[in-house]
Amino acid sequence: MRVVANYDTCIASGNCGHIAPNVFRNLDEHGGFVSLTTEHPPEPEWPALRRAKGLCPSATIFIDETG
Ligand code: SF4
Repeated sequence: MRVVANYDTCIASGNCGHIAPNVFRNLDEHGGFVSLTTEHPPEPEWPALRRAKGLCPSATIFIDETG
């Protein structure tokens, strides 16, 4: 799996970092906008990643299940 975030559309809601904190960060020094700890998270993270994608209010998170 490969995860990508569109930094142009993130509205810093903080949902992703709350749902999948091992992969998404919403750092204060970045204004709460999303950053990734990895583009290729390990399989145990995948369910949380899918939830985070579904609950992102600006459709900023993309998942390539084959990547
Ligand atoms: S859930 Fe979406 S809009 Fe909110 S911080 Fe994460 S990527 Fe940005």
